[in-house]
Parts: sequence; structure tokens; C-alpha cells
Amino acid sequence: MPRTQIKAANILLAAIAFVALSGGLASAHDLPLGDGKVSTSAKQGYVLSCQTRFPANAPGAQASGAWLDDEAGTWDPDLKPVVDGAVNWPSQITLSVENGQRLVRANGLPDHPTGTYPVSRSDDAYQYDRNPNTITAQQVILSLDASPSLANAPTCLPMGMIGFSLTGAAIYNALDAGGDDAPAREIQDSCNGHPEHSGEYHYHNYSSCFEDKQSGPQGHSDLIGYALDGFGMYGTHDVGGDTLHTSDLDTCHGHVGPVEWDGKIVEMYHYHFTEDYPYTLGCFAGTPAR
Ligand SMILES: [Zn+2]
Ligand SMILES: [Zn+2]
Repeated sequence: MPRTQIKAANILLAAIAFVALSGGLASAHDLPLGDGKVSTSAKQGYVLSCQTRFPANAPGAQASGAWLDDEAGTWDPDLKPVVDGAVNWPSQITLSVENGQRLVRANGLPDHPTGTYPVSRSDDAYQYDRNPNTITAQQVILSLDASPSLANAPTCLPMGMIGFSLTGAAIYNALDAGGDDAPAREIQDSCNGHPEHSGEYHYHNYSSCFEDKQSGPQGHSDLIGYALDGFGMYGTHDVGGDTLHTSDLDTCHGHVGPVEWDGKIVEMYHYHFTEDYPYTLGCFAGTPAR
């Protein structure tokens, strides 16, 4: 193809891409920013956080960009850059139930490719978030209640692991080290994961790399992982297949309903991921393992 034709083709492609992107914008993927939605009591749409003071100069993202609209108090996940790369890991996870305890043994490495960490200088994500950490294997041994029950009162969420995903990696709460909205502020890879200072790869929100075939009762989401109180964490869909939002759930981000649990359909309490803050749990409704 002559040079001018290539150029024209590129311009046409760029125009198509632009139209496609603008079309995406019209679908208004603006999510409310969760900054400051940290509470010392259980409250819908908030994180009941064990840590109540957050350092002003905490590690995390260095800059914000066009995906964040601080004035409107919104962010658009479709516009956020991602950490590039496709690194494969020797993920290991075994699950078993013994003496009423669900045992999770894993190396903390996900069963899907991750971005390249530390974030490379040449990555467009680098100008926003220079995550300097390296993904490293962990020794994960969890002993969770296999038949969890609701506690008398909710419990606060720690920083660090609050649950564990069937992908083999950890799930953290919605907060970054500064107490702000981690999914909105920090740059993750295309699976919505990144490592913290000890190298533990983790998610703060739903990942397209989770497997949810909505094979539960009437299109209810599948199990994505377990919270540390033993309750299941499911995808974003309710019975009937409807997409759930935080306003549909209780203060801890759960509800009671039919789910597939250890191969049976049971009516029980469970958590849901949602697209909106706090994305995973608001608190522990049961009693978390230590
Ligand atoms: Zn994080
Ligand atoms: Zn449900």
C-alpha cells in the first residue's frame, strides 16, 4: 500500500476508534467516587474500616487523569489506563473442608496473566502510578468457617486481605493506603490487580478475569471467592440475572438468598461484588478468621 493510503487508513481507523470510544462515553460509565466514605459504624455505601487514620502521603497513585472528575465526584473505569503486560504465574490453590473448616492453601499467584510490575517507565500508567512492587509468591493458609453464621454485630475490615479469590489471589477492601477509593485512584492491570509492598497480588474490585457464568439459581452469579468470615463472595448478578448495586445490599454488602454452595442450592447470607463503591465488602457480617 502506498504511504498516503496507509496514512488514510490509519486516520480512518483512528476515527472509528474515536467514535467507538465516544459511544462508550454516551453510555455514561460514571461511577461515584468513594473517597472519604470510611466509617466507624456499619453504613450502606461505606467501608467500616479498622484503620481510622490514614497518612496524607501514603504510597499509591501520584497523579490523576481524565478518568477522574473530582468536581463531579465521579470516575469512569473505561477511561482509566491499565498497567501493560501479560505475565503468567504458576498459580496454586487447593480447597478442602475438614472438621467444619474450609481450608485454603495457595501461593497467592493468580491463574490469569498479570500486568508487568514494577510499572515500567515506558508504560502509559507510569505517569499516574509508579507501583514499584514486584509480584511474589505468598504462603496462604486460611482456615475459614465452612458453615458461617451472622454475628451479633458487624466487624470492621482490615487493610490487606479481607477475602480470597478462586483465581488464587487475595481480595482487599475498597481503600488505598490513604483511605481513598483504590479502584478509582490506583492504576491496576487489565485484571484489576496489582501487588502491594510485600508483593501480594490483589484486587480491590470485580475483575473481568474472575469466572462468572451466572450458573446459580435463575442466573445468579457464581462464587468468586470467600470472605475471611467464611461467607461466599459472588459476582455482580442477582437471582433473575439483574445487576446488583450497593443500594440493593445491606451495610456489609450482602444479602440472604439462594446460591450454589458446596454443590447444593442453599438459602443463605452471601456477599456480592458490585460495580459501585465499596465494590466488595462494607464490613464482615460474620466472624472473621484471624
Ligand atoms: Zn491495592
Ligand atoms: Zn445474591
